[in-house]
This record gives sequence, C-alpha cells and structure tokens, in this order.
Amino acid sequence: MPPSFEARVNQTLSAVNKLLKLLPITAISTEHVKFDTQKLQNPELSGIEYQKGTLFGYEVKEYLLEKWGHKCAYCGRKDVPLEIEHIIPRCRGGSDRISNLTLACHECNQRKGSMTATEFGYPHIQEQAKQSLREVAFINTTRWHLYERLKATGLPVECGTGALTKMNRVTRGLPKEHYFDACCVGPSTPVKVVVTQHYVQVWRAIVKY
Ligand SMILES: [Zn+2]
Repeated sequence: MPPSFEARVNQTLSAVNKLLKLLPITAISTEHVKFDTQKLQNPELSGIEYQKGTLFGYEVKEYLLEKWGHKCAYCGRKDVPLEIEHIIPRCRGGSDRISNLTLACHECNQRKGSMTATEFGYPHIQEQAKQSLREVAFINTTRWHLYERLKATGLPVECGTGALTKMNRVTRGLPKEHYFDACCVGPSTPVKVVVTQHYVQVWRAIVKY
C-alpha cells in the first residue's frame, strides 16, 4: 500500500482507539463505498427491482449519480430532481440493465419519450453508457485493510454502502446532515433513530503529502 494510504488507515485507527478509551463502544459501523458495484453488475439482480424505495433502487441511483456526474445526461442541469431514464426505451427492446440507464430531468425524460438517445440527438450518451464505472483498485484495498484492522479491536464491525446510509436516513425522515448520516450507517441502523444529544463532535483526518 502507498505510504499515504497507510497513513490514512493509521489516522482512522488512532481516532477509533481514542474513542474506545472515552466511550462504552460495543460495535463499529463503517460506510465502505458509495454503492455496491458487485451487486449492480449481477444480471440476476437487474430488472424492475431498481424501483424507488428499495435498497437496490438506492444503489442504482447512487451509481448513476456518480457515473453521470450528478446532472441530467441531456441538458446538463444539476439543480433539478433527476429521474432514472432508459437510454434505449423498454418499448424499443431496451433492457433494465444498469448499462442502459442514465439520469434525466423530468422535462428531457418527457421530450425523449420513446426515442433512443441517438435519435434524440445524443449518440455519445449511448456510447458512454457502455463504459462501466470502476472504482480505483487501491482505494478498495485501503478499505479492506482498514476493515481488517478495525476487526482486530475485537469489536463486531459491519460495512454499509453510502446508498444504504441514504436509504436509512430518508426512510427515517431525518435531515441531510453528516451527523444523521453517521447515525444511519450500516444494516444495524434501528428503525427509529432517537436523538437525545445535541452535542456533536466531528473528527477530520488531514493527510499532508
Ligand atoms: Zn434535462
């Protein structure tokens, strides 16, 4: 592992060890990645399951936001709600596979209708869609290295995706704050999150190169 990544893992570990001395911590929940790429590439899981509200739906949406740069693939608008859009429409034989999906604003989605992206005047969208988004390998290595080191504390450690955090936060009706995101990391998030403390401590790791 590059020394800078080793330093990052060590910084996180030293923060965890400090907290363990101060607080009665019984388990660790970590957010590992933004979305589960393996789950998304599994063709068995493709299909109508990407619909709103399901965990798979959140994984798909987070993946598409990252892949298409958080904007409408057609007009490029950023500050509008984005809908999942079929590049080749289903009625034209297009599939529900992630490689056939993009994000569009409501207006573009409506205007495109039953046209393919190419017919709509955006052939490059159809090309770009074929390329899958790959996360950088050494970042993943760092994550698993950190996971192993956290497990060495002897506490149970769970991993969640950013998509799961978002779904947990939204379904519990909590505001978009880093603090509430932290409360919603991992599958063990309680159905009802009760906040009794108003004092929040935020620790930031700063790596100097
Ligand atoms: Zn648009």
